[in-house]
Parts: sequence; C-alpha cells; structure tokens
Amino acid sequence: MTTKELFGKIYQAAQNCGYEIYVVGGYVRDLQLGKNSKDIDFVVVGDAMRFADQLKKELHLRTLVRYPRFGTFMTRYYGYTLEFVNAREESYSSHSRKPVTRQADLRSDLSRRDFTINTLAMDISPQGYGRVIDVYHGIDDLQKGVIRTPLEPEQTFADDPLRMIRAVRFAARLGFTIEEKTFKAIRKIRDRLKIVSQERITDEFNKILMADAPSAGMRLLDESGLLEIFFPEFTALKGVEQKKKFHHKDVFYHTLEVLDNVAAGGGDLKLRLAALFHDIAKPRTKRFSEQTGWTFHGHEVVGARMAKAILRRMKYPAETIEYVAKLVGLHLRPMALVDEEVTDSAVRRLIFLAGNELDDLMTLCRADITSKNPNRVKRYRNNYDRVVQKVLEVEERDRLRNFQPPVRGDEIMRMFDLQPGPMVGKIKKFIEEAILNGDVPNDHDACVAYINQHKEELLS
Ligand code: ATP
Ligand code: MG
Repeated sequence: MTTKELFGKIYQAAQNCGYEIYVVGGYVRDLQLGKNSKDIDFVVVGDAMRFADQLKKELHLRTLVRYPRFGTFMTRYYGYTLEFVNAREESYSSHSRKPVTRQADLRSDLSRRDFTINTLAMDISPQGYGRVIDVYHGIDDLQKGVIRTPLEPEQTFADDPLRMIRAVRFAARLGFTIEEKTFKAIRKIRDRLKIVSQERITDEFNKILMADAPSAGMRLLDESGLLEIFFPEFTALKGVEQKKKFHHKDVFYHTLEVLDNVAAGGGDLKLRLAALFHDIAKPRTKRFSEQTGWTFHGHEVVGARMAKAILRRMKYPAETIEYVAKLVGLHLRPMALVDEEVTDSAVRRLIFLAGNELDDLMTLCRADITSKNPNRVKRYRNNYDRVVQKVLEVEERDRLRNFQPPVRGDEIMRMFDLQPGPMVGKIKKFIEEAILNGDVPNDHDACVAYINQHKEELLS
C-alpha cells in the first residue's frame, strides 16, 4: 500500500466522523529532508477515541492501543506505525506538573509542540494533498539547520523539561545547531530536568547515543549543563592534570572518541554504552607516582561496579547492565595478551570470561585506540590482530566458548556421596581451573578420571 493510498483511507474515515485530520511531526519533517519514514503521527481535530472506533471498523484493524487519558491511540497497518492524537491545548500552572488539556484547533495544537521543525503539518485531503502548513517557519529552520522553540523557549521548556534533552537529540541526529536563545533558556532552567522521570530521559538519551556521531550530542549535553544533572559521573571525566613532566589524557574527550569509533562501526546501543563507561572509574582510581606518573590501577574493576550502579539508576534492563559491566571489567585483558610468550591458559581464561561477548570486547578494544601517532596506532592494531589470531588457535583446539563444565553437580555428589553444600562447589571450581590451565581436556570422561585421581586431596 502506498502512503498516499493509506492517507486517503484515513482521511475518508475522519470525514465520516466529521473531523479534520493532518499528518504532523517527524514524518513531515523527515519528508522535507528527503527521508521517507513508516512512523507517522496524526493530529485529529475532534474526539480521537471516537475516531479510533471508526478507523478500527473501516480498516479492519486487529489491534489498536488506546490511551484515553492522553487522548491518543496507536496501531500498525501494512508495516506502518500510526499514532493519533487529539488536537489539544495545554495549560500548566506553577504548582502542578499535570497539564490541563482542552480541545483545540490545529493552530493551537501546533503551538504546544516542542520545536519549529516539528510543528509542520501536512494536508492529506484529496483537494489539498501534500500542502504543508507551516505556521512557525519550520521549513526555514529546517533549511538553516536550526532547533528553535515555536513560543518563548523558557516557557516551552518549563512546561515539559524533557524538551531540553529532545533539543539535543534532534540537533545530534540531524546535525543541526540549537538557536542561541533556545540554548540559553536550557542553560538557565536546566535544573528543571530533575522533575522528569528517568525512563523518559533514558529514552531520549538512547536516541542521542544512536546518532551517527554521538559525540556531538554528548558535547551539547555537557555544554548545556544537562549531563551534569543526570550523569555527573561522566562530566567528572573532564580535565587533565599535570604534575612535573607527567600529564594524562583528558578522559572525557578520549571516551567520546571511543564512542564515535564504536558508532562508526555500526555498534548497537549496548556496545555504545560499554564505550561510554569503559573508563568511568578513572577519576576515582587516579594516583600519582613521582617515578612513573599517573596510574589508574583497578579502574576496570571499580568501573564495572560503577557502571552497574549508574545504569541501574538510569533504568536500563538487567541484561544491558550485565553486558556493559562485563565489557568494562574485561577491557584491559586483550592488551595484556599481546606478549609473544603469552600462555594458552591466559588466552583460554579470556575466552572463558568473555564468552559470547568476546567479539564485542575486541571491537571495544580496537575502538579504544585513539592515539594521534599513526605508527603507534598501527602497532596497537597489529597487536590486537595477534591476540585474535591466538584466540582462534586456542578456540580451535578446545572449543571453549560457552564453556560448560563437563561434570555436573549431581554427578559430583554421587561420586563422593555428598549432600548439597560448599564442597560440591569447591570440586566444580577445581575441575574448571584444571580445564582452563590445560591440565585436562574439556571432556566428560577425562574430567571424571581426573577428579578420581585427586580424590584424596579434594576431600582432605
Ligand atoms: P521521531 O519519531 O523521529 O523520533 P518525532 O518528531 O516524530 O521524531 P515523536 O516523539 O514521535 O517525535 O513525537 C511526534 C511529535 O509530537 C513531535 O514531532 C512533536 O511535534 C510532538 N512532541 C513529541 N513529544 C513532545 C514533547 N515532549 N513536547 C512537545 N511536543 C512533543
Ligand atoms: Mg514520530
């Protein structure tokens, strides 16, 4: 189904209710930029809930999700995601965050939208099809590449402080600049962000991280003062300290480079988060030694812990948190394996610890090379190639990924006539270590024999 046919049907359904309907927001904006999206927002001048019933009937929709409190509903149709909202006006009072909403016409609905580039509406009637309604000079701002609020910026942001992060999101994703007055308003009332729920903030933050070059958005978040509010551990990475002849690199800008490197390789959200957090504990672990200069011993261990706590606060899902903590905790290991004479058992340990995340870990480590010295970059890259080579060799020898100890707990209990308890765990650990050390192959019968051989030592 073409978009035009789709719009024809939707327009007809609105007509049958006696309502006006327009396409608004992202779809119209993206169309002006030459991008076609299947995510379409509509504004209904009328009762959206009644329109939902009509549309369901006419298009034979199976599922339709209603949010009557917000006057919105959404549905999917032939691969399109369609969202409908009542045209409305909102008024906010200073003592309550809950807006009072009233039915409104198209113009006042557009005025409560966040940015001029998002106030564009499109006529989908057969007579005026494709005509763009541009009350706030959104097309002009699209051409100039400017993010600006349609009304007084301070008021717009005070009404819904999430819009401040959305400003950064659109600037980062579209490569636009935030107009000066709008940006000043953000700096001025940035503290209001604190009243916004973490879930909404994280949603926008993720979109910023998924930009082609997310560092631009991170810089804007920093310059606007917003980052300090919801992610102060990251702004703490800024700055370089110099003592004697020693200085370390600015971890803030280094991390942004690593983030962009991972993004350039098409990294997904969780890998980008791992890049963002990999050096998060450097400020906390920083020490100075007169002889060797700055050190950050243990920053990967402390960092994994910090990443968990921060990501939990930011309401990320448990598996994302585990993944990021794992990569942060392991990000120094591959480099430690570049020595010529590194043992198989060290390589095996890395394969075992990283499991399915090994490829992502190597991607992160390569992205971590931000030296400006081309010879050094080349040497580091070669080192990683050698590590990967070693990993492949060892893997081929003992197929270790998704390593499962070949002797299970219940079998150990039977062999030794044990009750469940710490002794079972101790024996399992013993056999795991033996496999990783290469003392015994990763094979059931060999392991049983090996346990029997060491029976006395184990039980003593
Ligand atoms: P995309 O769908 O590409 O993320 P979008 O512009 O469509 O971008 P949505 O979040 O889908 O963004 O919102 C649709 C439209 O609703 C926006 O274009 C904007 O006009 C309006 N809008 C959304 N959120 C807000 C908000 N917090 N304040 C004001 N207007 C908003
Ligand atoms: Mg949208």
